[in-house]
Amino acid sequence: MVKARKYVVKKHFEGLPKREDFDIVEYELPPLKNGEILVKVEWVSVDPYLRAYNSRFPVPYDQFGFQVGIVEDSKDPRYPVGTRVVSHKGWCDYCIINTTDTSVEPAEIPHKLPNLKGLSNSLGVGAVGMPGCTAYFGFLELCQPKAGETVVVSGAAGAVGSLVGQIAKIKGCKVIGFAGSDDKLKWLEEIGFDKAINYKTADIAKALKEAAPNGVDCYFDNVGGELSSVIINQMNEFGRVSVCGAISSYNDAELPKSTILQPALVSKQLKIEGFIVWRWYSRHSEAFAEITKWILSGELKPREHITEGFENMVDAFVGMLKGDNYGKAVVKL
Ligand code: NDP
Repeated sequence: MVKARKYVVKKHFEGLPKREDFDIVEYELPPLKNGEILVKVEWVSVDPYLRAYNSRFPVPYDQFGFQVGIVEDSKDPRYPVGTRVVSHKGWCDYCIINTTDTSVEPAEIPHKLPNLKGLSNSLGVGAVGMPGCTAYFGFLELCQPKAGETVVVSGAAGAVGSLVGQIAKIKGCKVIGFAGSDDKLKWLEEIGFDKAINYKTADIAKALKEAAPNGVDCYFDNVGGELSSVIINQMNEFGRVSVCGAISSYNDAELPKSTILQPALVSKQLKIEGFIVWRWYSRHSEAFAEITKWILSGELKPREHITEGFENMVDAFVGMLKGDNYGKAVVKL
């Protein structure tokens, strides 16, 4: 018998999540049935959607989320012992996965870790996982950037934003990022952003006008709210906005108000489109291959913010929501 631990959300979050909103439950896993694998979890992802989706589920519920793990026992010959898998079994240290269950959402179907050619397996929940696909498809498909254009990214120092900015540079664009600390700005400029602006301290409209005197062609929006309204109001004719997330409001019980966008949308003939990354599920391996190639060639430098220890999952999660992370926030078990 294998003993497992998992986090259960016992209370809906109010504002930032707290340790008291969770229980850690210990239990014994049953013997494997045909079509099942036993996975020892090695890396767990903490992501903003875990906060955004909290009110959708009645409590108590098992905390969901992505992880990378190693198959320790198998009743599916396609997943022999020692295979590394990416799955969506949440914050647990061991789990049983039914590899033949087709009733789950695409996100929840386990897949073998792509060939990372010696890079860290943790990238399977980061640059070569869901956040990587989000950056790759959400930016390239919806913004259709052209070399020489000016691209703005909010949430620029996070998992998705830092990849979008670097992909935009690879595509020959001028890139401006918004992030929440001066130290993050330094890092963004080190990895190739042409200009980074602290949205907490700068006069945003003025700083953007100075950084992008010819206006903004593409905006990759991770945060929403007033910051996005200011950026969208400085866009050029036929500009494109890819709306990825709205983290500025995830901890609010009611949606905040921000400046009306319609005058800019109409007069500049802007295209604004939201997306969910699973739209491109069938093409994920394309993004994995391209991003791995860019990392290996040194054109793209993914950064990870690693917290150690199963006991520290909540701190890692809250830290990410508060902006502690540079790049992808992950927990190493
Ligand atoms: P990040 O790694 O970017 O972490 C979250 C970051 O958000 C923090 O580091 C913090 O950075 C920033 N932040 C927190 N509060 C605010 C605020 N009030 N205003 C502005 N920034 C804030 O997370 P991800 O890269 O994983 O996710 C980025 C966005 O992409 C999220 O909105 C997420 O929901 C979305 N997403 C959407 C997907 C889709 O399919 N549409 C898929 C994956 C992610 P700072 O210090 O700069 O404030």
